[in-house]
Amino acid sequence: MSNQIKPQPGILDIALYEGGKAQLPGVTNVVKLSSNENPFGPSDKAKEAFSRSIHSLHRYPGTDHADLRTAIAEVHRLDPDRIICGAGSDEIITFLCQAYAGPRDEVVFTEHGFLMYRISSLAVGATPVEVPERERTADVDAILAACNRRTKLVFIANPNNPTGTMISAAEVARLADALPPQALLVLDGAYAEYVEGYDGGASLVDARQNVVMTRTFSKIYGLGGLRIGWGYGLRPVIDVLNRIRGPFNLSTAQLDAAEAAVRDQDHVNKCRSENTRLRAWLAGALAELGVPTDTSMANFVLARFASQDEAEACDTFLQKQGLIVRRVAGYKLPHCLRITIGDEASCRQVAHAVAQFKGVK
Ligand SMILES: *Cc1c(COP(=O)(O)O)cnc(C)c1O
Repeated sequence: MSNQIKPQPGILDIALYEGGKAQLPGVTNVVKLSSNENPFGPSDKAKEAFSRSIHSLHRYPGTDHADLRTAIAEVHRLDPDRIICGAGSDEIITFLCQAYAGPRDEVVFTEHGFLMYRISSLAVGATPVEVPERERTADVDAILAACNRRTKLVFIANPNNPTGTMISAAEVARLADALPPQALLVLDGAYAEYVEGYDGGASLVDARQNVVMTRTFSKIYGLGGLRIGWGYGLRPVIDVLNRIRGPFNLSTAQLDAAEAAVRDQDHVNKCRSENTRLRAWLAGALAELGVPTDTSMANFVLARFASQDEAEACDTFLQKQGLIVRRVAGYKLPHCLRITIGDEASCRQVAHAVAQFKGVK
């Protein structure tokens, strides 16, 4: 190819995102605990809505997502006109970077932050700025110290992936209040539903002028395969994002399934309480085996080993038992493994296998 045909600066710096492994060669019954998926799957109502959508495959979907936005707004008590829906919250993150950052701008996120922040920043030619965390937890002072006149976006996931840790509403508010005037704070609430009584930052979006929240149907709603997410912000921000959103970015199947899913909060509550129970059980079992975890507020735990070698050896051992967890060296945590909270049988299998690995029984 002609060497004058070149992609935009930054694009060749993007390391390809690797999803959680789903298969192991030669193993039939794998337990996939590598992508923070809901072991209970989606609400039956969402599956029924998805099935019904086969009758309208020849029709274009609506462009304004009004029914889904209304449903989200009713359930969360928000203004539907300040909601935008996307193909996963990844697409909302992409829109935010496209709209607010470009060459010579900086996008700030933390050391163990979600990889899409870096990828989406580089994709628009902006400079990713990675800030140290304290004990695998976002450090507001360090984030503020990294901000300057070029900072356009600051991303934090609360709770964060892959650490599972969370900072308080007061800390998030302090961050919003001290940001430079041209910077927008993005609160990624992918795991917000797992935190009892937490609004994902929606009230801070309402109380401040510089905060946006992103949410997803991929985690507690169990619809990762369908790709639906949403964002909530000030009207001018949502208006900007809608200008770059493709009119048909969500299919009828996505819209209908998501609407049914969000209206079934019984399913959400059941999944949250099972997750809370099993997460505490697994964290306790791992602690007894000498494998500490930070207090996780999400649907996974980050298991810490003595070294990268031990973490990798344990991962290899788990794989032999058909258990797939996530290596997180790409998140600068080479001595850790991220383990999704599966159903009770999976959690017991993980604890049993780690015990065998540790030579406990
Ligand atoms: C899983 C996850 C998302 C959700 O991505 P989708 O595109 O909505 O599937 C967003 N942020 C974080 C931190 C995540 O872990």
